[in-house]
Amino acid sequence: MTTNSFEDERCLAIADNLERIRAALADAAAAAGRSENSVELMAVTKTVPVEYINYSIDRCGVDLIGENKVQEFLQKQPLLHLDGVRKHLIGHLQTNKVRKILPAVDMIQSVDSLHLAQKISDEAAALGVNADILLELNIDAEQTKTGFSEEAFASSLAAFSELPNITVRGLMTVPPLGLPDSELERYFDGIHHRYESLKAQHLPGFDLQILSMGMSGDFALAVKHGSTQVRIGSAIYGARIYH
Ligand SMILES: *Cc1c(COP(=O)(O)O)cnc(C)c1O
Repeated sequence: MTTNSFEDERCLAIADNLERIRAALADAAAAAGRSENSVELMAVTKTVPVEYINYSIDRCGVDLIGENKVQEFLQKQPLLHLDGVRKHLIGHLQTNKVRKILPAVDMIQSVDSLHLAQKISDEAAALGVNADILLELNIDAEQTKTGFSEEAFASSLAAFSELPNITVRGLMTVPPLGLPDSELERYFDGIHHRYESLKAQHLPGFDLQILSMGMSGDFALAVKHGSTQVRIGSAIYGARIYH
């Protein structure tokens, strides 16, 4: 492993935060009657300087990171200590950036259109690989957000099955901002139901193992409602500073 002597107060806060979050995750899993290792922790590293990401990898056991922007990730990538670390893209992806990002990540979580999935399948075919993706679903009809609407999702399922070079590994969601806890629970529960029923369909090209939901402010509720992977940024690294 890389030795990393860099350490400042922010590093210590990151180590503390991770310890606290892992304990809270274990508690939430136990409260839901689930095993501790049924929920994975993704560290969301957007806007975080590489020294701090590397610290969390080298010293705190982070082994799964999520980045939102293709350009930002590709710039940071050569400086990151990524041995044994999985990298997922979790932000909106434009089709013209698929070629660049596909070889650099292990999964694209933010697939929100059939068109994008087709493009990923095409590029994966050109590289001679299979691409693992999650489908981003949004079940709040009143919100205009990223993600498939329920209608678009339902009508695209057969087409996903036909794409030769992708495997759908699960669902991902970002709930609308500012929902009170009761509605947030209903939202997570709704996604969980769709995940389970999709799983039961055993469609070709689908191998569902990941329900990616829950962020800094709501991960315990997400775990209560079946999340298998929480994506946590600010609660680990501190408030984001955008330049
Ligand atoms: C930024 C981001 C997160 C993490 O958000 P925090 O509230 O900082 O934990 C999770 N998922 C997606 C898609 C994000 O863009």
